[in-house]
Amino acid sequence: MNTKEIQNKLNQLFNEEKVLNEELRKAEGRRLIECEKCGKRSKVSNLTYIQTHFYTLPHGCTDGDYWSQDEGQFICPHCNCINRLYKRPDICKLKDSFKEVVNTYEK
Ligand SMILES: [Zn+2]
Repeated sequence: MNTKEIQNKLNQLFNEEKVLNEELRKAEGRRLIECEKCGKRSKVSNLTYIQTHFYTLPHGCTDGDYWSQDEGQFICPHCNCINRLYKRPDICKLKDSFKEVVNTYEK
């Protein structure tokens, strides 16, 4: 293969990757996850993923004063309970397939 052919092949693979990632997100979005409180199941693509953050206070001259990602959460549409996801990494992995991701910052 010459340079141009390699470049074309790379572009083609890049596009295929994009399509596959979209397919994956759609497939993941169809998965049902269960509410810890009421036990009812909801489609991932109908839910909002809440990404919480925690604050580290400044200390010393250069450390602290920054936000780090904390646990993920979602609100069950059936009972309005907050489901905390720190013990459910399998659901956290689906973050990109939720309807939307909302970031919250609490001190
Ligand atoms: Zn529920």
